[in-house]
Amino acid sequence: MYRTGFGIDFHQLTEGRDFWLGGVKIEHSKGALGHSDADVLLHAICDALLGALALGDIGTHFPDTSAVYKNIDSKILLNRTYELVQQKGYKLVNLDSTVCLEQPKIKPHVAAMQAVIAALLQVTVEDVSIKATTTEKMGFAGREEGLVAYATVLLQKV
Ligand SMILES: [Zn+2]
Repeated sequence: MYRTGFGIDFHQLTEGRDFWLGGVKIEHSKGALGHSDADVLLHAICDALLGALALGDIGTHFPDTSAVYKNIDSKILLNRTYELVQQKGYKLVNLDSTVCLEQPKIKPHVAAMQAVIAALLQVTVEDVSIKATTTEKMGFAGREEGLVAYATVLLQKV
């Protein structure tokens, strides 16, 4: 009846890349490095959705060796991932997530991210929790070399 899933994703931060997070482009001096648009939050959510149904991970379904996914908008990846969930007869109940990064501050952008993700996953914004924390200047996130996102989901059989 119910399935839970967990996802985690990491990306390096580098100059000369757009900063995409939660499907929203944010002005910043750096962006995440990756084969796609490197949206760490959407990737973690994809992995949580796949994990809930033991469908493997994002790399299985959207290999970073494929030219098809070069610089692809991760909203497309999330949309396709949710189609797989629906094909298995499940729907999202709610999701919770946390992004760990030093800069930029994402609080002003959370509502926009919630709206994008809720629309893609056909839930209300109250069903999409996005939190953020720094690592108190410690480690790679604290040095602004990269960022991490964690996500959990609850799915219900339709
Ligand atoms: Zn990723």
